[in-house]
Parts: sequence; structure tokens; C-alpha cells
Amino acid sequence: MFSPRFKQTSDLIQLVHAGLNKKLVKAMDPYFDKKCHGLGVEFPKAKKKIQAPFLGWFAKTHGMLAGNIAYRLYLRLSPANAGITRSLEPSELLAVSRAVEVLYPELTITHNETDGLIEINRIYGLFEAIKDHRVVNYTCSRCGDAFIKEASQASRNCPWCALSSRVGSANYKVA
Ligand SMILES: [Zn+2]
Repeated sequence: MFSPRFKQTSDLIQLVHAGLNKKLVKAMDPYFDKKCHGLGVEFPKAKKKIQAPFLGWFAKTHGMLAGNIAYRLYLRLSPANAGITRSLEPSELLAVSRAVEVLYPELTITHNETDGLIEINRIYGLFEAIKDHRVVNYTCSRCGDAFIKEASQASRNCPWCALSSRVGSANYKVA
């Protein structure tokens, strides 16, 4: 059986392949470089347009939808950390980003295009913001459902209500 430490390094290598920024991988494990020395793990070139700490993408209607979907999927995958009292484990970040990618490819930034809405670095940044209370839980003033939004953002309606006049918004409802 693999040791927990080996398991974590292997998860981090998968995060590198999934496109997680070098700086963010090192934030999860400052000794990652040393551990990988000789393993031939190379960081892919960073996507210039993606800056994880900034939540500009999340302020937009479709970005908020994608972020809320990622959050709800995470609650299903890791209910033990539903309060987001700690950073995501590498395996949790992998699981939630893969779930979004597989279930909602149209909301996901792929390797070839950068004008999509969500990807692993943004998911990491979003969950850090939830942990730091920059993104908070809120109750929709229209449908009464819970959703997350930036603490500083004036929006009172959940992204599903915000999109309700558009065809297909119901397809994005994650229970
Ligand atoms: Zn609503």
C-alpha cells in the first residue's frame, strides 16, 4: 500500500498535468520541487489569461453559475469539509475540477481555448476565497435557494434565477 505522503505527491503530479499553476502547487506543498527531482515532472506553460487570485470571472453571470456548480459538486464529493474551514486537499481539488469538466464541458476552459469560464486554477482560487470569507453563502431573494457570491457583490439573485429567462438554465441546477 502507498504511504499517505506518496499518495499526496502523486495527486500533486496529477494537478500539474491538469494545469494547476506552479505557484499554487507549491502553496500546497513547498517541497514539491524537491520530491519531483528526477521524476521528470514538468510544469506546462501557464495560461496567461488565467489569474487565480482574482475573481473577476466569478462576478459575471455565467462565471457565477460555473462557480456555484463547482461549489455544489464539491459539497457532494467532500461533505466533511462543507463549511470550507480548510484549503482543499489535492485529491479534492482534482475530483471537483474533473467533475465540472466531465459534467459541464461547456462551462470549462479547455486546453485549446481560454474564453470558457472555469478551470482548475479558478476553482482553487474560488475555494480559497470561500475559506477567507471573501465569497459567502447567501439566500436568493427570488427563489429562496442558497448560493455563493462575493461578499462585496450586490447581486441578490442566485445564478439560476439570473439565467431563468434564458433557455436551458434548469439544466444547470445541481441539487
Ligand atoms: Zn434564485
